[in-house]
Amino acid sequence: MVYHYTAGGPLESCVKWFQKKDGVSAHFVVGRDGQVVQMVKLCDRAWHAGRSAWRGVEEINHFSVGIEICNWGILKKKSDNYYCWPKDYSVIFNGDKPYKDKTGGYWESYPDKQIKSVTEITKSILKHFPTIALDDIVGHEHIAPGRKPDPGPAFPWDAVKSELKKWLDGGASVDDTQELKPSEIKEDTKQTVIEDREDFNLDDEEFINQIKKKSSDRKGSNPWLKDIFSSILNFLFKHIKKN
Ligand SMILES: [Zn+2]
Repeated sequence: MVYHYTAGGPLESCVKWFQKKDGVSAHFVVGRDGQVVQMVKLCDRAWHAGRSAWRGVEEINHFSVGIEICNWGILKKKSDNYYCWPKDYSVIFNGDKPYKDKTGGYWESYPDKQIKSVTEITKSILKHFPTIALDDIVGHEHIAPGRKPDPGPAFPWDAVKSELKKWLDGGASVDDTQELKPSEIKEDTKQTVIEDREDFNLDDEEFINQIKKKSSDRKGSNPWLKDIFSSILNFLFKHIKKN
């Protein structure tokens, strides 16, 4: 499982960017308010890792889940303002108080709501793919060191890993009471599924309405987990056929 930051702004613009951009994709995109958009089915390969290696194995895209977290990443401070990278750091950054790393560098921080969604997606995936070890939940920076900095020092690895560990130690993989309830998902993180690479070509307001419509179309079930189930079935089916 690979966490990234998008080096971009709001969820809708990040999603649009992925829809337009050839050769780059991720399974999930998580907005700053915790809203989640699934862009690629788990049985399909997404193009998020690039040149990469982990535990001596290369080409991480072949066997990983990519989660993109909306965040500008590196910020630069000039006098009293912070700037993000577009136009060579001439765009003023208007977000929350930046995170300052040990070397004095600045990074956009991650809101609690967003981190909660990342953790909840991870739990759901671990539930269905229990062979993923905690140590194999990594950042792009770990599988492409020196080439990629995301999700960077502002990402709260300790908090996320300890929450996941606590959840796993509590028997999460076998205890259904720990399972996310569809209603909780709807209210807390508003998970939404968007069909693979569907070209919306809409302005922002229409895009949001489209998302809302899609969630209400699928009321009564958790479209997101349903998609995971069908992904697993597809995966098993392909695998069984191959062997
Ligand atoms: Zn990345």
